[in-house]
Amino acid sequence: MLSNTNIAELLAKQAQRETGILSRAFRRAARSAFLWPENVSDLAAQNRSLTELRGIGPFIERQILHWIDKPLRLSSKIPAIRQDFISLAEARQLLAKNPAWSKNLRGDLQMHTRWSDGSGTIAEMANAANQRSYEYIAITDHSRSLKIAGGIDERTLKKQGAEITKLNILASKSGAKLIVLRSVEMNLNPRGEGDMSPKSLAPLDIVLGSFHSSLRTLQDQTERYLAALRNPNIQILGHPRGRIYNYRIGLNADWPRVFAEAVKLDKALEIDCYPDRQDLNVNLLKVAREHGTRISLGTDAHHPWQLGFIELGLAAALKAKIPPERIVNFLPVLDLKMWARQKRDREAPRQ
Ligand SMILES: [Zn+2]
Repeated sequence: MLSNTNIAELLAKQAQRETGILSRAFRRAARSAFLWPENVSDLAAQNRSLTELRGIGPFIERQILHWIDKPLRLSSKIPAIRQDFISLAEARQLLAKNPAWSKNLRGDLQMHTRWSDGSGTIAEMANAANQRSYEYIAITDHSRSLKIAGGIDERTLKKQGAEITKLNILASKSGAKLIVLRSVEMNLNPRGEGDMSPKSLAPLDIVLGSFHSSLRTLQDQTERYLAALRNPNIQILGHPRGRIYNYRIGLNADWPRVFAEAVKLDKALEIDCYPDRQDLNVNLLKVAREHGTRISLGTDAHHPWQLGFIELGLAAALKAKIPPERIVNFLPVLDLKMWARQKRDREAPRQ
């Protein structure tokens, strides 16, 4: 049976054979395949239309049905730029088989709002999180230097903090258990330095740092990662490799050294659960598990419905057998805050 991942690969290969608008449609459909909630082969077997799925119009539907009818031999070699991505359908099957696993989850530690390039307000993200019975979410809008994504400066971050405080007070009065944590996705340069004053970060509950530049270099980037982890102002390294499905392969490093350094500093590396990121991926998570590295789950949601991407990260962590106590979003909120605080107190004298 063709899995959605197989179909994604067939679509991506077809995109390479086509040109212009068709090529783009196949490319888009390949990306979308990771978000289809059900197996396309099951839908076809039930004679249901495939066009209810994102990215599939009548033309692509015919093509997929043809592949299902006449399975061609799949080449087992998926190019690295599309390798090691989990489909939502696969993630859901895996999580359904291990129901206790998802129950450990208490929150989501990466999301964007209208304060930068997201489309929801903080209240809308909090509502969506409430519906998922989360205990906390971290609001991680982009920082100053990422202008293209509406990055916010220190003054705006402070204003956002006031809005979050107000929301938390209102929520606790109404008996809601969700706590909105103050955070930021601080842009790191290739030397691992952030773009926000340490003073502006001090009132935050937790700080995520991520690279958004020089992501196409093929040279070893171990030093960049070690520098970022040693940056006293961050506790979580976001979407570590910077890979994007079928677009950018991501950075390389001596990963055992990077994971060992994270353990030494007791910092976390992220699974960015966004479907075409899935970064860290399962193979690297297995290396992280051998070292005992802390892992953080963040959907990188830019819209409330995208909090659902968490299933991809939960499935990746489960596949890699990350011990639950190593996942920071499985911690109660006070323990999470204390962990973040300890990193900062320990690092403070060096500033
Ligand atoms: Zn980012």
